[in-house]
Amino acid sequence: MLEWGGETMVTAPRLIRDFATFAAPRSVLVVIAHPDDIEALCGGTVALLAASGARLTYLVLTSGDKGSPDPLIDPRALGATREAEQRAAAALLAIDDVVFLRYHDGEVADDPPTRAAVAAQMRRVRPDLLIAFDPWHDYTFHNDHRQSGLVALAAARTLARQSGPASGADGAVTETLARPHTIPEAWLFLTGRPNLVFDVAPVIERKVAARLAHVSQAADPAGVARGVRTRAESSGAPYGLALAETFRAVSFPLDESFVARMAAGDEG
Ligand SMILES: [Zn+2]
Repeated sequence: MLEWGGETMVTAPRLIRDFATFAAPRSVLVVIAHPDDIEALCGGTVALLAASGARLTYLVLTSGDKGSPDPLIDPRALGATREAEQRAAAALLAIDDVVFLRYHDGEVADDPPTRAAVAAQMRRVRPDLLIAFDPWHDYTFHNDHRQSGLVALAAARTLARQSGPASGADGAVTETLARPHTIPEAWLFLTGRPNLVFDVAPVIERKVAARLAHVSQAADPAGVARGVRTRAESSGAPYGLALAETFRAVSFPLDESFVARMAAGDEG
């Protein structure tokens, strides 16, 4: 969708029915707020990327330490359980690079230290694609989700690509972490303005299995599995697909000059 002076021109989303014909990125960083965000919201596409041979890293900002209806549960024990569940879900897709920044559940903030910690991971992983929450999704009230999207985009847009030191969560700076890195593209999930749609029918069983690996978040496994399918069905329906996931794909300017940014239609 292109917007000029209040007028809106709608362009048809790009439909990817056969992932094998898609020029998939080789290295992907997925930034999320909680264990199970990927599996619930974009796990089919992540499974397609993993199957295509892309190297994936999950960067999980919290360990989901408040994710229980039991008010007496020990948050540290719950966080440890959910980290193990997240690693198990990733392992089902042969992904072993899972990093937890261990901010508290419900307290993710788009602030300079969090941006720096995320940017340090971007410099370590050096991805050619970022996958994150769409922070501008209408009526996303889960603040962690919105903040994690803002943090990821701010880190990619500025700190990851600037020269100078980048500090990790523990304040450590290394030469490798400090080397700047530009990520050309981001796919934003949980979006109201999709322009990229993937047919996830071939991987729906893998997505369901990965979601169910979050055992503490699946008291009713059959209901959870049904929910995953129902969400994929409603995402696919507008595009004539049985099961789909949708994203807002955005590109970051590779050339920072004003002329280049104007030519690319980038106002940021
Ligand atoms: Zn979440």
